[in-house]
Amino acid sequence: MKVLSVASECAPLVKTGGLADVVGALPGALAAEGVDMRVMLPAYPGLAERLTRPRRLTVPLEGQGAATLIAGRLGEMRLYLVEAPELYARGGGPYLDQDGADWPDNHLRFGWLARVAAAAAKRGAGRWRPDIVHAHDWQAGLTPAYLKAVEGGGPPVLTTIHNIAFQGVFPAQVLGALGLPQGLMTIDGLEYWGGVSFLKGGLALSERISTVSPGYARELMRPDFGLGMEGLLRHRARDFTGILNGIDEGVWNPADDPALAAPYAAGKPAGKAKNRAALAERFRLTPHDDAPLFIVVSRLTRQKGIDLILAVLPALLERGACLAVLGSGERGFEAGFAAAAAAHPGRVGLVTGYDEPLSHLMQGGGDAILVPSRFEPCGLTQLYGLRYGAVPVVARTGGLADTVIDANPAALAVGAATGFQHDPGEAAALADAIGRACGAFADRAQWAAIRDAGMRQPVGWDRSAAAYAALYRDMRARAS
Ligand code: ADP
Repeated sequence: MKVLSVASECAPLVKTGGLADVVGALPGALAAEGVDMRVMLPAYPGLAERLTRPRRLTVPLEGQGAATLIAGRLGEMRLYLVEAPELYARGGGPYLDQDGADWPDNHLRFGWLARVAAAAAKRGAGRWRPDIVHAHDWQAGLTPAYLKAVEGGGPPVLTTIHNIAFQGVFPAQVLGALGLPQGLMTIDGLEYWGGVSFLKGGLALSERISTVSPGYARELMRPDFGLGMEGLLRHRARDFTGILNGIDEGVWNPADDPALAAPYAAGKPAGKAKNRAALAERFRLTPHDDAPLFIVVSRLTRQKGIDLILAVLPALLERGACLAVLGSGERGFEAGFAAAAAAHPGRVGLVTGYDEPLSHLMQGGGDAILVPSRFEPCGLTQLYGLRYGAVPVVARTGGLADTVIDANPAALAVGAATGFQHDPGEAAALADAIGRACGAFADRAQWAAIRDAGMRQPVGWDRSAAAYAALYRDMRARAS
């Protein structure tokens, strides 16, 4: 089974969030299922240089010249980089310029990614021709449109929604520049409130749709979560499924993690204390032995409930707890934590920016991780928290609700509890969950039971990789 995975980011090459982790982990996870998955990405600056044995391939495009791919490997992963210097060879990030504004030609940049993916899917990249295309998020959303409307058909497409809040909506006029027929500007095509939605194209024209947790799949069919796509997703409910993300247990393993101060594992937690001390030192905190050191590793946005954390900070500090925050995002939130750190030295610490090794040390040293998202498609940081014994305190929504077992009396009685859940979007509910976590922490045996149950919870890719492989097989069977 050959699958072409099309995305705008892929760890460890280029990452702004969980999408990259998933795209980067899937090929290795699926290899065990007999799936040969290769990843197609834009050739952002510096990427080609990191591939081993790079070589150029030409992909003819239906009616419109040819595109160039750089094929190569990164470790075991095989990649195709779409070479288009006028679109991708520039500073800044994958989506934003140096000042944080969207690139004005994002429709062309990601339209081209989909255009080339469709051609490679139909005609092959060199001699390799996929059975299935797996397109991720709006950036790859036009792939089935190009396959159907320009290439005249090809392998079936699975579109995965990693976050419905990002839809890739542009004015209707871009359709011409994208080389797509006006006939696609319909309610069951790309049309979305008079504009063009790349994501909607993926949802309407793909053979199958998935998202990254069963809980989020159910939520997306409701008006309060679907952001206008709920009707389409309900209409396509039979082709729509939720498959939980896993984590890359090679990269995220507390027993063997170069970013940690000391290794540890479930049943051998001694090293955790050294990481707690290293984390405290890094953030200049002086945590008490009988109150948790909470961590936050997150984009600092309203989606992530960051305003709620700021609101409950006084209650958290009153319990004698500490807070270490690693994140970047909305200036107001960064300023809020900076002010709290200044007002409460030794109790609140902040590192702004993006720091991958520090994110590992946070999970290693933290007693508990706060993830009070208003919505959360899957969430990875609570999974890292489970694996690293940073007990998750999460909002009861989407993938968070699917992956953390609340420490209610029944779950505690049978040793199943792995964290704490609270109603989403409510500061009082978050404060209550933090209070429950502090209470549990003070009872060493109870805390150890919750933490160890979490560390033993399977959070790898095994089951989900099998689910994807089964889905691909079903798609191929139906296509032939
Ligand atoms: P999302 O993709 O919505 O941002 P996820 O929880 O799915 O949320 O994934 C976030 C990923 O980004 C995780 O791997 C997390 O560790 C990482 N991350 C978020 N903020 C930072 C940061 N400031 N520094 C390092 N890693 C971060």
